[in-house]
Amino acid sequence: MTFWKELFVPSRDTNALILSEWAAIDIAYLCPKCENGRTTVWLFPDTTMVFVDECCNQEVTFHPKEGDEDSD
Ligand SMILES: [Zn+2]
Repeated sequence: MTFWKELFVPSRDTNALILSEWAAIDIAYLCPKCENGRTTVWLFPDTTMVFVDECCNQEVTFHPKEGDEDSD
C-alpha cells in the first residue's frame, strides 16, 4: 500500500464532490518509484483506491484509515 495523508477535507474539486456526494478528499503521497510529491482526489475515502500514477506509471494503492489505532 501507499502511505498518504489528507490534504483538503473535503476536496477542493467541486466536480469530485458532486460525483461522490461530498465524500471526496484531496490526498498527498509520494510516487513509489521516484518519490516525487504527488496529489490526487480520492472520491470515496471509505473504500480502497488503486490506480496507476502517471508520474512513473507505478500502481499505487490507498487503504482507508482505520478508525483508531489498535493492536500495535
Ligand atoms: Zn515518479
